[in-house]
Formats: sequence, C-alpha cells, structure tokens
Amino acid sequence: MMFGLGHRGTTNLITRALAAVGKKIETVPDPTQIHYHLPSSPKHPNGLEIKVWRKYEDFVDELKAVFTQESTSKGLQRFYDECWRVFNSLNSLELKSLEEPRYLLGEFAKHPLACLTLASFLPTNAGDLSNKWVDDEEARGFVDVECFCWSTVSAAMTPMINAGMVFCDRHYGGINYPVGGTGVLAELLAEGVEERGGVIEYGCRVTGIETSSSSSEASTSTASSTSSPLRAVGVRTADGRTLRAKSIISNATRWDTFGRLLPETKVPKEEIEFRDRYKKSPSFLSIHMRVDAETLLRGHREGIKGKTRKGAHVNNSKLDDEELQCHHIVLESWQQMEDPRGTLFVSIPSLLDRSLCPEGSHVFHAFTPDWVDAWTKLTPEEYELEKERVADEIVARLEAAAFPLLSKSIISREVGTPKTHRRFLNRADGSYGPIPSRKPTGMLGMPMNTTAVPGLYCVGDSTFPGQGVNAVVFSGFGCAHRVLADQGKLPVVPVLDGAFRKALNAVRGAV
Ligand SMILES: Cc1cc2nc3c(=O)[nH]c(=O)nc-3n(C[C@H](O)[C@H](O)[C@H](O)COP(=O)(O)OP(=O)(O)OC[C@H]3O[C@@H](n4cnc5c(N)ncnc54)[C@H](O)[C@@H]3O)c2cc1C
Repeated sequence: MMFGLGHRGTTNLITRALAAVGKKIETVPDPTQIHYHLPSSPKHPNGLEIKVWRKYEDFVDELKAVFTQESTSKGLQRFYDECWRVFNSLNSLELKSLEEPRYLLGEFAKHPLACLTLASFLPTNAGDLSNKWVDDEEARGFVDVECFCWSTVSAAMTPMINAGMVFCDRHYGGINYPVGGTGVLAELLAEGVEERGGVIEYGCRVTGIETSSSSSEASTSTASSTSSPLRAVGVRTADGRTLRAKSIISNATRWDTFGRLLPETKVPKEEIEFRDRYKKSPSFLSIHMRVDAETLLRGHREGIKGKTRKGAHVNNSKLDDEELQCHHIVLESWQQMEDPRGTLFVSIPSLLDRSLCPEGSHVFHAFTPDWVDAWTKLTPEEYELEKERVADEIVARLEAAAFPLLSKSIISREVGTPKTHRRFLNRADGSYGPIPSRKPTGMLGMPMNTTAVPGLYCVGDSTFPGQGVNAVVFSGFGCAHRVLADQGKLPVVPVLDGAFRKALNAVRGAV
C-alpha cells in the first residue's frame, strides 16, 4: 500500500526520491485504500463494511451511508477536515530536516501560516480530535482502526501529524501499486545511485560502529553539545573490514544501533531516555499464498449475495462497489484490535498488477501483528507444526469474515513468523518499529536523525516521522539534508544550530 507515489505537491516523497536519481516508476492506481470488515453491532448486525475510496468525496459519502446519524457523520468529517489542515500545510513545504533551523526559518518566511498550523498540531494525537468531534463509540472505533492499521496503536497514541499525512495523501496522491511489486522501488533507487557513482555492497553485514574519543577528532557535526564523549568514525563488517567515513548513517532500528552495533557501555543517556518513551511494537506473522483466481472470486460473489449491502457505498455509479478490492482489514472484536493476531490484514496485489503471478491465480498475502516470544521456545519440529496450525486458524477466520472459499482456493502457502522478520530484516525481535510506551505528546518526543554521538545518524522507521515507506523516505531526505549541513556542504548558522539542537533535546527530554 504505497503512499508518496503521486505527481503533485511536496509529500510525494517516493516519486521525488526516484526523480533525484533520474528514475520514474510505473504504477497502477488503487481505487480504494482499504476495505474494512469490522465487528457487528446492534446498528450493523451484518458487520460494519467500509471502503476508503480514492476520491475523498466518495469516502465521505460512504461514511454518511454507514454512520446514518447526522451528528456522527458530521463529526467524522470534522475530524478528517482537521487532517486536511495538517496535510495541506505539510504539502506546501519542502520536506527536509526539521533539525536544521536555517531551512526552518526559510520555510517559515515563505509559508508562515502552514508552519504555524503544523506547530499547533505537533503536540496533538488523532484521538484528542476524534474524542472531541465524534459522538459515537463505533465511529471512534473506526478512527482507532484507521490509525492502528499503519501505526499499530490506537488513535489516542497516534500523532496527528502522521494521521494528517496518511488520511489525506491516500486521496490526494492516491494509493498506487508499483508495477512488478514494491521491490522495484528499491531496485530503481539502487540503479540510480550506482549510475551516479554510488557504491552499494549487498550481503554486507555491519557488526559494529567504530568510535574514537570525540576530542581526538575534528568534529564537523554540531552535535558536539551532547552527552557522548565519543565520535563515530567508521563501521566494522562481518568479513573483517573496517570502513571509515565522516558520517555514519544507521538504517538499523534504534535498539540494534544502540546496544548491538554500538555496545551497551557506549550508549548515551539520550538513547536510554528514548527506551523509556518508546517501546518495540510487535512483529508480524505473514502468510503468503498463491490462490486460484476463479475460486477466490466465486467466493467473493457468493459472500456479497449472502450479505445485506445496507450501508455500503451505492451512490456513485463510477465505482464498482462489488469488485474485490486489493487491501482488506478484518477485525472481529473491537476489544481484540491491539491483541497479537487480533487484527488481520490482507493484500491481493495481483488484482492491480497481473504481472505478479501466473494467469488464473492471485497473490494473497495475509498478515497480523505477533510477538516473537511465542515462537522462540519451540523445537524445529514444533515450530513447523505451529506455523501451519496458526495459518490454518487465520485462513478459517478470513474465510468466515470476508473471503468465502478461501481455504479451497489455496494452491501454495508459505508462513513467516516474527523470527523470520528478526532474521531476514535484522530487526530487534522482528519489531515493526517504535511505539510510544505512554500517551505521547504528539511528535515532540520522537527522535530525529542526529544522535548524541557526533558523526552518527539514524534513519528509517525508528526516527521521525516513523513507520511506512513514504515516512521512511521523509526521514531519508531529512537525514541527507542534515548530513550535508554538518559536512559544510550546505550553509548553516552555527550559533543558531547549536542553540536549536539544545532546545530540541530539552523538549524531547521533557515530554
Ligand atoms: C507485514 C508488513 C507490511 C507492511 N506494509 C506496508 C505498506 O503496505 N506500506 C508501507 O508504506 N509500509 C508498510 N510496512 C512498513 C514498512 O515496510 C517499513 O516501515 C519500512 O520498510 C521500514 O524501512 P526501514 O528502511 O526503516 O527499515 P527496513 O525496511 O527494516 O530496512 C533496514 C535494512 O537494513 C538492513 N540492515 C539491518 N541491520 C544491518 C546490519 N547490521 N548490516 C547491514 N544491513 C543491515 C536490513 O537488512 C534492511 O534491509 C509494512 C511492514 C510490515 C512488517
């Protein structure tokens, strides 16, 4: 589900990152972001079925058709209108490093209203506004699952800045599927980097970050006002080499960077504080299936007939409400939303891109949040059996809730567990990324790209603005900007820089 592949505004960061290395990607527009299959209730005895249509007005019509009480649909619209205020502000700014005050002042001079609007939303969470505007518990639950499906936490814990970005870009730039699969994004980026003289080493595991005492090296970074007596000067690789560089950028998670690549004894106090503010989210259990297209679609048609379509989107003849959509969320009980294996996610990308699998079949990817602990104490035989048992259980739930005949359609099936994520992505406990350990003050506590160790930067989903590919690309743009500024390749105002860094650290420490 790719955000950031649009062609206008400034938040289309994946398109921009590819353009920066002279590349373009072919995509297929997705008519919906998600088809939600949510729990039944007295008001919705057949379950709450909601599709998030690409066109915002169609989505608003869908909400009106589902939440028939006028005050509720108006409240929801008020909530999403607030999201548009955030998005429109973000989408007017050039998105770079929020740790570079000269750039921030420049953007403020050009777009004062947008900057002030964003500043006013910085300490706010989506739940603060849904509680304020939405008068119905079920509709607030809907906002919760809307947040949960990408933040893995409820609206109360999801910063409004992220919500604004996600809830509007899906309508503005739209969700677009990269032809050939999402791996093509990385392949094109790598190609572009290499064409411009960059060198990428594959299968090259970094085992540690080399440091020296910061006083013994000339510091080009303005981070010298921090607590660490060290400076990062290079990395060690598993094949025994040491590579030295002015700037070391870690794309590993915060827990892997600080504690594994940099030993625990060298972890600065700012990172210990981070561990108090944020914790690891669960990992995911994934079931990758190839299914028979005819059986899957026949099941879908039978399912539609069996359900009263009351409340479904019916008033726009341009959209085919009965067509099977690519992305689905299945939740059988609101209470289980945040439980391991509580919420089920499904993607069927071959509905959009026929090149992904052989004719007559579809790719069916089902996944659900899960903890690594449940998988670590099993023998190899138990592990294999447990994978199949859990997968059978999930397929049965999907079949009952949204995909009749699913089990009969399966041609092949592969199960990946949180251990798979841990091993193949090299992520601590296979975690999806950091989530707040207590109600956050919006985005104020989120770490950015610089660290307390001069010369060492972090990038990716452990840094602002968090998880999701477009968000990670934002952090990449921010990091590149800050590194260039620290290396003297972009103009900075050193006094302002140091003061701003101290102020940011103080705010982060205080929240
Ligand atoms: C099941 C699932 C579904 C998702 N669906 C979507 C979606 O539809 N849309 C979306 O936008 N986002 C989605 N996400 C989230 C998105 O995939 C992540 O937020 C994003 O990939 C994180 O990017 P990253 O670069 O920070 O980390 P990663 O993608 O984990 O990349 C880090 C890289 O660093 C490498 N690495 C780690 N340690 C070392 C080391 N010591 N030496 C060398 N290399 C190392 C790893 O091998 C890895 O390639 C999904 C995530 C999951 C788990």
